[in-house]
Amino acid sequence: MTASILDGKRVAAEIRAEVAADVARLAGEGITPDLDVVLVGEDPASHVYVNAKANAARSVGIRETTHRYPRDLDQGALLATIDRLNADSSVDAILVQLPLPKHIDTARVLESIDPAKDADGFHPVNVGRLVQGKPAPVPCTPAGILELLVREGVEIAGKRAVVVGRSDIVGKPMATLLLKADATVTIAHSKTRDLPGVCREADILIVALGRAGFVTGEYVKPGAVVVDVGINRVSRREDVERFFPGDAVRLAEWEKKGSTLVGDCDPSSVPEQASRLTPVPGGVGPLTIARLLFNTVQLARARR
Ligand code: NDP
Repeated sequence: MTASILDGKRVAAEIRAEVAADVARLAGEGITPDLDVVLVGEDPASHVYVNAKANAARSVGIRETTHRYPRDLDQGALLATIDRLNADSSVDAILVQLPLPKHIDTARVLESIDPAKDADGFHPVNVGRLVQGKPAPVPCTPAGILELLVREGVEIAGKRAVVVGRSDIVGKPMATLLLKADATVTIAHSKTRDLPGVCREADILIVALGRAGFVTGEYVKPGAVVVDVGINRVSRREDVERFFPGDAVRLAEWEKKGSTLVGDCDPSSVPEQASRLTPVPGGVGPLTIARLLFNTVQLARARR
């Protein structure tokens, strides 16, 4: 079997077009949704993500401001910035780019965001609302994945779903959403015994553990639908050759840039078992950004 693609780029473009139409409707009511992104430090990947979010927001007509601070910003100053954005009635949605520098208490910062302006849906009030099935901004990556499965016609109700990874950002909210969609859900993590065996029970396997090519074909039940959330940059030639044997395009990319992106699934063996699979890049990443735009407009509508 060679898996067909679950087309994250296409579904993300659909969501963005719907959001743009919604922004145009709001403009008719004199409302321009506003997203404020707070970025602390110089982490290159965070800068890439924040720029992508800003460009995407502007492309659909959302007003976006990125507040950039040096990595030695103290926690008090960051909390003061968030207080100011909370109090500013022109701001609809606030996103603090993670990870924050080590000296800052991430939980404290996320809890300081007004839940009504919580673009990522990480505030405990919104997490609780999601778990209880009440309206809330839903964390963008899992929300995008659910949207992908639904729009690509993957049946969820009654299916066995396994989520590998239990982070607050991906794994836990993903499991909550799949449960809400009537899947029978297992969450696996670093202490799970017989991870390959647990994963092989899945009709739908969501992999979010942050290790390049970790999940191989041996973990996948033949015909399963697999979503690879991982984004890992590999720079050693032997890794590129191992993950992409005989792939001249990938090798050329590596030669040009010195690295290439690999998901958490092994791109040489997983497609042989799965019926459908998200590519990396071009799978989950674009959906995450599309759902951020969606959340921003939802928050603007709710607040105004
Ligand atoms: P975290 O590091 O926060 O969590 C990783 C999870 O994987 C943990 O629950 C950990 O278990 C589990 N894990 C780690 N190693 C193993 C192992 N050997 N076996 C089983 N479980 C393991 O990562 P995130 O959830 O933030 O991100 C996961 C991946 O998704 C990363 O590659 C990240 O880059 C990517 N990502 C992609 C996004 C996108 O838009 N495409 C958005 C967000 C993340 P334990 O809890 O026991 O430590």
